[in-house]
Amino acid sequence: MLKVENVSKYYGTLKAVDNLSFEVNDGEIFGLLGLNGAGKTTTFRMIMCLIDDYTGNITLDGKKIDYTVTDKIGFLTEERSLLTKMTVIEQVKFYAVLKGMKEEEIEKKLDYWLDRFGVSEYKNKKIKELSKGNQQKIQFICAIIHEPKLLILDEPFSGLDPINVELFKSIILEFKEKGTSIIFSSHRMEHVELFCEKLVVLVKGKSVLSGYLRDIKEEYKKKNVIVCGNIDKKKIESLDGVINVLKEKDEYIIKIKDNSYVPKLFKEISKYDNITKFVVEDASLNEIFIEKVGEAYEK
Ligand code: ATP
Repeated sequence: MLKVENVSKYYGTLKAVDNLSFEVNDGEIFGLLGLNGAGKTTTFRMIMCLIDDYTGNITLDGKKIDYTVTDKIGFLTEERSLLTKMTVIEQVKFYAVLKGMKEEEIEKKLDYWLDRFGVSEYKNKKIKELSKGNQQKIQFICAIIHEPKLLILDEPFSGLDPINVELFKSIILEFKEKGTSIIFSSHRMEHVELFCEKLVVLVKGKSVLSGYLRDIKEEYKKKNVIVCGNIDKKKIESLDGVINVLKEKDEYIIKIKDNSYVPKLFKEISKYDNITKFVVEDASLNEIFIEKVGEAYEK
């Protein structure tokens, strides 16, 4: 279990991370979210012990994070961090030896993962000869080959085609099943929503929203009612409890204050005789994120 307690980090006078606390249990996928410059990379670097001049506490399974603990962490960085003149096998060995693995164990595991990712033929090729997506696979293998207790994934799907996104997803879920704690960061809220049971949203280093996704959605009372058919947009917009009505392709998205307005809206919509759809949906994480981040900036 990873525990981040009251952590703050300054760069000169800039407070990049401000009294941040969160926990990631074994087998849990945790989302660390925020706009550019919010403090995510700084937080990752503190967890990895690449930055140690911070206040507060960071522990993995109860032990303060230092270089003896970082062997148990795998880190897939957003920027490419491969040494492009090395061959795939040299590169993976380089990282795996740093993590304390033995040569024969590395080779066995590398063959397994190259096969899983469908890139066995590149084993002795130089990194620079690989496509962007295949380099991302090698970087992912470097992050998981030592079977970390904590896996940090910063934009893991960048540069991947849809089939490889699915492959990465299934492997990430296998690690979750094995009990690995996973921190996931992405600007793509649909990925976060699919994966993370718990999350924190940072604005200027400070948490503005945190907790279990299901609780966040429940607390955020607003709902979207999706309607297909010809309705009088202005009239619906003027109803009590309706925040706004948007038209997207052949659907209307009616945002309402909360569930209690559904029966009255249903009655009103039923007056139109061409309605083919009436569905009440939770707000998306994307909507909640934009609203909460916007509110925090206005303060
Ligand atoms: P992105 O989504 O763009 O990667 P981020 O959430 O990872 O952003 P950080 O890189 O952690 O954000 O940056 C947090 C703040 O700290 C920013 O204001 C950034 O300019 C500043 N910062 C980051 N690294 C340094 C550094 N080495 N020296 C000074 N300021 C820094």
